[in-house]
Amino acid sequence: MKTVVIGGGPSGMMSAISAASKGDDVILLEKENSLGKKLLITGKGRCNITSSLNISEFINNVPGNGKFLFSCFQEFSNDDIIALLKKHGLEVKNERGNRIFPVTDKAQSVLDCFIEELKEKNVNIRTKCEVVEIKTQNNEVTGVYLGSGEVVNCSKVILATRWKKLP
Ligand SMILES: Cc1cc2nc3c(=O)[nH]c(=O)nc-3n(C[C@H](O)[C@H](O)[C@H](O)COP(=O)(O)OP(=O)(O)OC[C@H]3O[C@@H](n4cnc5c(N)ncnc54)[C@H](O)[C@@H]3O)c2cc1C
Repeated sequence: MKTVVIGGGPSGMMSAISAASKGDDVILLEKENSLGKKLLITGKGRCNITSSLNISEFINNVPGNGKFLFSCFQEFSNDDIIALLKKHGLEVKNERGNRIFPVTDKAQSVLDCFIEELKEKNVNIRTKCEVVEIKTQNNEVTGVYLGSGEVVNCSKVILATRWKKLP
């Protein structure tokens, strides 16, 4: 199963890791020249990775109705992201307000872990690739069009960014 993930931010990188873990052949397409540019400015460059609250407290602190997140957190929790970073040698620390940061105080360390995990899962990372359209046939996804005109064939698309133009 060939899967294209559109957008190399935190959600796209995690989606790619997750799809590849389930056995998909994954291509991650990012329009910028590197992954996670926004991630690098989070938490004033330190990246507030997650919270140390348990899932119920976490959901109670989500503005609006956070209950729909319950099943997501059952699948992948704050402990899971901490374990993933630890696997790649990055320890975290708990700061005021239950906020979890990398001990390095650098968002780059978090990004490095994501990239290592993507490589370990054999995700094909392609930067400078802007997806401009999703290609369909008989209402099924068959690929994506890049700005260059290239078609990347796939049978599944995970959209991990804002999408202004719908197919
Ligand atoms: C100043 C600031 C500080 C923040 N601090 C924190 C923090 O400490 N902790 C925290 O959890 N959150 C923080 N956030 C929020 C966090 O940055 C976002 O929640 C997170 O980046 C969302 O990730 P994402 O992958 O959904 O989107 P993005 O990070 O926006 O990633 C989307 C990616 O898709 C790419 N893309 C877009 N269109 C296309 C296309 N057509 N084809 C290919 N690629 C495309 C973009 O270039 C981008 O790389 C902060 C945000 C800001 C602005």
